[in-house]
Amino acid sequence: MKTLPLGLEPVVAPRHTFDENRSLIGLSHAEVAEKLKEIGVPEKQCRMRAQQIWHWIYFRGAKSFDEMSNISKDMRAKLNQHFDVGRPEITEALISTDGTRKWLMKFPDGQEVETVFIPEEDRGTLCVSSQVGCTLTCTFCHTGTQRLVRNLTATEIVMQLLVARDYLNEWPSPSEGRLVSTIVLMGMGEPLYNFENVKKAMHIVMDDNGINLSRRRITLSTSGVVPEIYRCGEEMGVNLAISLHAVNDETRTKIMPINNKYPIDELMTACKNYAGIKNSRKITFEYILLKDVNDSDEDALNLVKLIKDYKIPAKVNLIPFNPWPGSNYERPSKSRVAKFSDLIFSRGISAPIRTTRGEDILAACGQLKSESEKARKKLKTTH
Ligand code: SAH
Ligand code: SF4
Repeated sequence: MKTLPLGLEPVVAPRHTFDENRSLIGLSHAEVAEKLKEIGVPEKQCRMRAQQIWHWIYFRGAKSFDEMSNISKDMRAKLNQHFDVGRPEITEALISTDGTRKWLMKFPDGQEVETVFIPEEDRGTLCVSSQVGCTLTCTFCHTGTQRLVRNLTATEIVMQLLVARDYLNEWPSPSEGRLVSTIVLMGMGEPLYNFENVKKAMHIVMDDNGINLSRRRITLSTSGVVPEIYRCGEEMGVNLAISLHAVNDETRTKIMPINNKYPIDELMTACKNYAGIKNSRKITFEYILLKDVNDSDEDALNLVKLIKDYKIPAKVNLIPFNPWPGSNYERPSKSRVAKFSDLIFSRGISAPIRTTRGEDILAACGQLKSESEKARKKLKTTH
């Protein structure tokens, strides 16, 4: 081996093979089979080969075709020539003092998204992003201030799960006791503004031969894109969480501009009719607590009234505001938050206070915003 000056040995840089156009990750069985056909794999073999490849990707966590030992060498070489099962570049991998992890991944066009893993006692939740940034501009949310926005592809959404499991060393897929046991679509972006790709990705996540997580272990959080809430129930059937955050249209519109388009009555009606309710599942109403904005006793009582008026089987998740650089709100006092929660509990609706996780690495709810954007801003202000 050639010795470098100062006695440094040359290091082989990790090869990031990820190429969106070549990736077989995030493609349905049928699509993989079709791709194989296109490169001349005999038609009667395509289905079986697609199954093998799926198994290697989602059960074994293979990052290259070379690992796929039950596929002939010649075939592997051919696959290598045309396709890719590699990972994107991970530009940041952080671990919080409370064990929360955050990964920043960069796609070939330079855009970045964050994925957060929140370990709990006997399981863990992966918080997945659906867009780079977000077009909605909720006033309390850091993601909403990001200028660059684009939808993530199904490949990029599924990739976040694979990367988390790479880092957590969770291959091959354990049949039980998995670390990544729950998924919440609560990262960057509005998942219902990227409906088709989110749906495609979730179908791979739910497939027995894919990631194999039941729809009951997936929660989609939306700011309230009413028409797609109906579709979400029919076409995905995952748990639904609504970012409600205020109990009257005036306050809600002030903090969440989407309320102009889909006001509270339309939103609650969509929740009442959500297909998942038929299977006795509750809807989660997320409620951010902003000091002196929406945290009064009256607000708590109106929240209970709203849920009861529409007869929605529901639970409430209280999220005390998480500050971010430049934000204009404050978190209410502990006693105010506790009183708000008690008022709801005492009227028969569960309203736990969500403990903040990963705050030291800016991984808590509403704090996600890609580093590239921050770096660009910094560059702008220093020039
Ligand atoms: N766009 C979707 C998915 C993002 S989920 C949605 O809005 O539902 C992120 C959750 O964190 C939402 O409930 C969001 O309202 C909440 N949130 C945003 N900013 C926050 C902040 N600064 N502190 C606490 N929660 C916040
Ligand atoms: Fe977008 Fe959700 Fe943030 Fe609102 S709270 S800006 S919808 S990510």
